[in-house]
Amino acid sequence: MPGIAEGLRDVVDLRGKDSRERPMALKLNHAQMEAIRRHAAEEYPFECCGVMLGKVDDVCKAVGEIVALKNLRRESARAQEWLPVDDPTRESGRNRFLIDPLDQLRIEKDGRARSLEVLGYYHSHPDHPARPSIYDREHAWPWYSYVIISVERGVPGDLTSWVLAEDRLAFRAEEVEIVS
Ligand SMILES: [Zn+2]
Repeated sequence: MPGIAEGLRDVVDLRGKDSRERPMALKLNHAQMEAIRRHAAEEYPFECCGVMLGKVDDVCKAVGEIVALKNLRRESARAQEWLPVDDPTRESGRNRFLIDPLDQLRIEKDGRARSLEVLGYYHSHPDHPARPSIYDREHAWPWYSYVIISVERGVPGDLTSWVLAEDRLAFRAEEVEIVS
């Protein structure tokens, strides 16, 4: 994925900033981890994507549900309508993901009805490390957790989570806590 080296440089530690930027852990259980890993393997060599719904308190975001979504970038014509890229053959479902805004609205509404909020998003990096790219940073929002899982030759590997700073200039690594 282009821009990974630059992405690394942008990773900074924001401990000590105000409360909205105070690091919180992302809590996932084994079944949720496994669901993300399975989805990433199934979609290889394309990027998978999905939403994490759950509850938040002062110290953590506890994931309640993983919702696998289709990567709209695989439907090039429709993806271009929503969020055009310069060269759809270079920026495709293999190195980009795009969540259908209609899916996004539906998930948010369903979640609200069950008192679950959107905690963040996950996507895979086929044959690339689990580090955010410049593109990932430019299309992220502060506060949300962005989980990235690397998939090397079809086998899911490292899983990391990232939070964008309020000024949107840098991602910081977020602790991922696996609970049983
Ligand atoms: Zn990415």
